[in-house]
Amino acid sequence: MNREKFYRQLPGVDELLRAPELAASIKKYPRTVVLEAARTVLADLREAISRLDEDKLVGREFSLKKIAPVVVSIAEAAVKPDLVPVINATGVILHTNLGRANLAKEAAQAVFEIAVNYSNLEYDLEQGERGSRHDHVRALLKILSGAETAAVVNNNAAAVLLALKALARSREVIISRGELIEIGGSFRIPAIMEESQAILREVGTTNKTHLQDYQQAINEETALLLKVHTSNYRVVGFTAEVEIKELAEVGRAKNIPLMVDLGSGVLIDLSKHRLAAEPTVAETVAAGADIVTFSGDKLLGGPQAGIIVGKKEYIDKILKDPLARALRIDKLSLAALEATLRLALDEDRPDKIPVLAMLLAQEKSLKQRAEVLSEALSKKLSKKITIEVVKEFSKVGGGALPLAKLPTYCVAIVSDDISVSELATRMRTGSPVVIARVQADRVLLDVRTLKDEQLPDVVKTVSDSIENG
Ligand SMILES: *Cc1c(COP(=O)(O)O)cnc(C)c1O
Repeated sequence: MNREKFYRQLPGVDELLRAPELAASIKKYPRTVVLEAARTVLADLREAISRLDEDKLVGREFSLKKIAPVVVSIAEAAVKPDLVPVINATGVILHTNLGRANLAKEAAQAVFEIAVNYSNLEYDLEQGERGSRHDHVRALLKILSGAETAAVVNNNAAAVLLALKALARSREVIISRGELIEIGGSFRIPAIMEESQAILREVGTTNKTHLQDYQQAINEETALLLKVHTSNYRVVGFTAEVEIKELAEVGRAKNIPLMVDLGSGVLIDLSKHRLAAEPTVAETVAAGADIVTFSGDKLLGGPQAGIIVGKKEYIDKILKDPLARALRIDKLSLAALEATLRLALDEDRPDKIPVLAMLLAQEKSLKQRAEVLSEALSKKLSKKITIEVVKEFSKVGGGALPLAKLPTYCVAIVSDDISVSELATRMRTGSPVVIARVQADRVLLDVRTLKDEQLPDVVKTVSDSIENG
């Protein structure tokens, strides 16, 4: 086959860029972006010519008029922000893929101020000399946890890695087999242990570990006792685990510190709000843990961060480790964390923190919001579609409170013309983006994770998805 004639029809890059069809784009977008788009399109076409049979190529046009709009759309896509806000209608509060915790307005404002200005990040204003970035949250964390001191790093995985390396490198760490968990991604306790160069000494069995299992494993090489809160799953039935209090006593008697990785940093007593009791940070410290680590963006409701609270002698050692510099928290997260912790001081108003407001939302107000949304959708949508408010359950997500089923209300949508998966896809690629919960026979919009001011946006995307597909 003679492919040459097809290649010859293709314009050159310069010719393409000079085309009147591209003149507006060249003005609007950076030249490099349009150039790259033109190269991409021409390369794709050349590749198609080399691959396709002649009968498929005949009739295809390689004219400027055909090619230019493709270049424009690629250039357009290239300059659009890629990381964008989405509306979370899944009801999963700490949806890891959707960025976990929403920050409070106060925290976002603090981020803005610190982002566009210089700050006293590492500057002691009273002494006029170098300070520490940990200073800005230490006092707050001491109040909230009851611990002697505190430090913060990039995330909780980093906190665990750093603490293990600083306190137990080349020495043994005793942990129950039932706590050798995987959090997701590549965070597995045995893998983190290996990274830290601490030696894993597992004791007990998957379902039962007794105090004597720990006691028997202790030797001169033991550097640390470790308890990991199995935050994303539960062993139920014939089980036994050792309380922090008992384990701390064993450690104290042998002068071996006890570290507890709590995963989700719960600061308030959830059982007061008719939720399953999760050990709070303060309870864990009070029970005798020497080092406690937890996340900033799980139930604490702040930014991604890893928080370490505990005894000064250990935290000093942790901060002196060279790895601490590599894992340090950045100033924007620190600003958001400080603001969030200030909100957390108000025990009577946990709802000042959006994650907790979503977690503690009352059924009555959820039902009301679902009814408002359902009515607005019914009014807007003329086509054959069934919309109803249904009672459902939301999940906490983020590997926290895995068994909690939070009663909620959803708007259920069934269309006669569009399949459930197609409708969800259109909403996901709509503007603004709406991520819904998909069941076999319907699309659910769980209002627990929606803000009132987002409801008109949800109506827009849903109606666009149904009417214009
Ligand atoms: C989530 C979790 C981690 C990891 O925390 P990140 O802040 O996501 O790095 C570590 N340990 C436990 C028990 C967890 O639940």
